[in-house]
This record gives sequence, C-alpha cells and structure tokens, in this order.
Amino acid sequence: MSAVFWFRRDLRLKDNEALTAAFAASDATGNNGVLALYMFNNAEYLQLEGIRQHSLTESLRSLSQDLSSKLHIIDVDSTEQFANGLVEACLAIGTKQVFATESFDPKGMAEQVLVARFLESKGISLHLVGSNYAVRPGTVRKPDGANYRVYTPFYKAWVHLADVLPKQLPKNPTWLEVDKNKVVPSPTKDSPIKVKAGEAFALRTFQRFQKRALDEYDQMRNRADLSGTSHLSHALAHGEIHPRTLLAQLGDSSGHEVFRKEIAWREFYADVLFHYPHTVDDYYEPRFKKLRYDTGAAAEKKFEAWCKGETGFPMVDAGMRQLLQEGWMHNRVRMIAASFLVKDLHLEWTLGAEHFEKHLSDFDPASNSHGWQWTAGCGTDASPYYRIFNPILQGLKFDPNGDYVRKYVPELRHLEGSAAHEPWEVFDGYSDGYPVQIVDHTTERNESLARLEEVKVS
Ligand SMILES: Cc1cc2nc3c(=O)[nH]c(=O)nc-3n(C[C@H](O)[C@H](O)[C@H](O)COP(=O)(O)OP(=O)(O)OC[C@H]3O[C@@H](n4cnc5c(N)ncnc54)[C@H](O)[C@@H]3O)c2cc1C
Repeated sequence: MSAVFWFRRDLRLKDNEALTAAFAASDATGNNGVLALYMFNNAEYLQLEGIRQHSLTESLRSLSQDLSSKLHIIDVDSTEQFANGLVEACLAIGTKQVFATESFDPKGMAEQVLVARFLESKGISLHLVGSNYAVRPGTVRKPDGANYRVYTPFYKAWVHLADVLPKQLPKNPTWLEVDKNKVVPSPTKDSPIKVKAGEAFALRTFQRFQKRALDEYDQMRNRADLSGTSHLSHALAHGEIHPRTLLAQLGDSSGHEVFRKEIAWREFYADVLFHYPHTVDDYYEPRFKKLRYDTGAAAEKKFEAWCKGETGFPMVDAGMRQLLQEGWMHNRVRMIAASFLVKDLHLEWTLGAEHFEKHLSDFDPASNSHGWQWTAGCGTDASPYYRIFNPILQGLKFDPNGDYVRKYVPELRHLEGSAAHEPWEVFDGYSDGYPVQIVDHTTERNESLARLEEVKVS
C-alpha cells in the first residue's frame, strides 16, 4: 500500500527516519510509492516578518525542487482544515497510512494529537516516527528514572545514547502525484537580505564549516567578529539537516567535542521543554515571576530602543541590528543583548523572546525560551541571576578590534579599533549621531541585585 508523508520541521530527503519508514511501509513497486505533503498555514505565515517568510519559502522551494515539483502544498488557515486535506489525499491514492516526524514542543504535539484523532475517525493511522534530535526528547534519564535539570550530567548520559547512523532512502524512490496545489507560496513582505536555504545548501554549509572553522571551534566560537560558528541553526530549525548527519562526522579533538556539546544544548533544551511544556512562555523557576519588572511608558520606550539597536551600548546595538538585518545573531551577542534587556532595563524575558521569535530565521521554541531563561537567570543550570554581563567588557573581549560593532553600527564606523566600544571616551565619539546610553550599567546592576533580594528564598 502507498503512503502519505507529511513534511513538518524536517524539510529534507536525506537522513529522514520517518520518510525512510514511509517508503519501507509502502510497496515501492508498480504505481505505489509516497505522496509528499506540506501543511502551509497561511494565517501563521502572514504574521511572520519578511526574513522568516523568505526563509520558509526558500526551504520549501528547495524541497519541491528536490522532489521534481512533486511536493503537494495544502494551503490552509487551521490544523483542522489540514487534517481534512490529509484525508482527501489518502483517498486520492487509496491509502490508510500517513507518516510524519514526531514533534516534542507544545505546538507540534497539540497539532499531531489533533491530526491523529481526526485521521483515526476516518480509519486512517498517523505513524509518528523519529524526531529532529539525535536522542528523542524524554529518553535521557537519571538512574532513578527522573529527567535531568542540569546540562552537564544530561550531556554525559546523552552522548552514549546519541544516534549517529544516518538513515537511507530507497535508491529510486517513487513519488506520487495527485491533482493538488504544488505552487510554493511567495512571501508577502520584503526581506533585507537574500535568504539561502534548503537541504543542499545546509550540507554545503556544513562542509564549508568543516574546512573553515570546526577544528578551531572551541577557541573561536565566542568571537562575534569572526565567522567561527557553523551557521547551521536555520537548517536545524527547519530540519534541512539532521543532527545525526553532523554527529556522524565528528571526531574527538577539542573543536569537535565542543561542537558536539553545542548540538547537545539544543537537545537538552528540547528535553526540558518536553518535560515542562509551560516553560515555552512561562518561568522555569517560578519565583522569578514575582521579581519587580518595569512597565509603563518609560519601560516601553526603553524596549523600543533595545529592539531598534539604539541603547547607546555598542555591542547590544550591533547585535540587535544584526538580528533585524540578517534574521540571525551570534550566540555570545544573543546572551549580551538578552542580559541587558532583563538586568539593565528590568524588562521580562518574555518580551525579548517574542521579539526574537518574530525576527530569528532559526527560531526554535525550546532553544529560544530556554536560551532566554538561562541568560535571565530564571532557567535551568548554573547561570545565577546575580551574574550580570557587563555589555562593554563583553564587547571588548569578544569583539576586541571593534569590527563587529562597526559592521552593524554605521554611526561608529569612524572610530578605530576598540574605540568603537567606548565612544564616550573619545572627543568625536558621537559625531555621527550614535545615541547616548539610555541607562547607566552600574546603577542598573545594583538595582537588579536589590530587586533579587526581594524574591530570595531564605
Ligand atoms: C537568548 C537566546 C535565544 C536563542 N534562540 C535560539 C533560537 O530561537 N533558535 C536556535 O537555534 N538557537 C537559539 N539560541 C542558541 C544559539 O544562539 C544559536 O543556536 C546559535 O547562535 C546559532 O548559530 P550557529 O548555528 O552558528 O551555532 P553553532 O555555534 O555552530 O552551534 C551549532 C548548533 O548547535 C546548537 N546550539 C549552539 N548553541 C546553542 C545554545 N546555546 N542553545 C541551544 N542550541 C545551541 C544550534 O542548533 C546550532 O546551530 C539562542 C540563544 C540565546 C542566548
């Protein structure tokens, strides 16, 4: 019997466990094969910022091309409509089996439950196979069966369980066609950059990273001014590459080991979100909900300055402008900008996370919510609230020559070397219109620590 394959956040053909299972279940002889479907949620797409629209469209275009235009797009406004479309597709090819990769975040889980129930009512089964991780969230457990709440012991257990065996499709897979819409929808908004995406691009990006920076990854990954990281987060978030494919090619050197550990951070946060789904937009450490945060017109003005990259702190502003221009920000700078929002501006992490969600082309619910909560000090692991990043010292350390700041902040381009981090120290620092600091870091640091005392448990 043929099968329907529902592409979700796994927009690739290679090393796709659920797709391999769909072909194994379908009898790939004669007219049988697999019908490839994608649920395009029009209502959600229209809400996305330009870069995110373009990145999804490019991923789908590339997948459609890899399928010789046999990707069937079900254009809907709700999951219910999609479930209906899936039933029609099953009827059209005479099958009672749908395959998909299982989701583990709250939205994906709710979606697959709804679809499975609807299909079941029509006598069709939804087979959820594999995951977008090397280890299925919920699998890594302590000897007593409890889940891990701290990264390092999670990693030590995870590394022995991680699946590094890439999955293979049959040599000449048969893709079925039905009379359905196959046109990938075009973006309705402009993007400031030309987005490149897709499985082939992801594989090339990994190959280039292996040549360019993997061996020195442990030393270079924190330098915002260098291209020392893989830039694979978009591909991993859209499933254009599976972490298995990456892990399979890593060795034991220090650079490789640190890269493996970063892949594991993604898996740790997915595991944490699976166990605590409310933490996608709520506090992992509930006492921080009671911390005094600023609200009102003055707070809104500061938030706006942060979003635009006009806080007067060069490293924060460069990061926030990189986000708007490229839909991506260097990890170190994400931490600096996030810490600044919570601990210098006294705003809730959720505000910043929503802004990141709007603009990051690599948006991932688990990594975003928990990256924010870790930095804000209300999340997992040992990042205590009282550890407060100094945005100026961080800039001098991780962009020592000021190149990163000059790249994204034109008002500071006339300043040489590290002077770009401290325009207040030079007589012409503000001559090109760079804004003055909206707050004083030392004052706000003390204010944060005083507010922390109010929620400390004795
Ligand atoms: C406030 C904040 C928000 C974040 N939001 C997201 C998000 O929405 N989506 C996202 O993919 N990452 C997020 N991250 C994690 C990290 O910043 C990005 O994964 C990384 O910058 C992507 O660049 P890269 O692919 O070059 O990373 P590399 O350094 O090359 O790392 C390889 C891969 O490992 C994973 N990874 C690396 N660092 C982390 C980390 N700290 N946490 C989780 N996974 C990690 C990513 O999948 C990444 O692609 C966030 C971090 C912070 C501090």
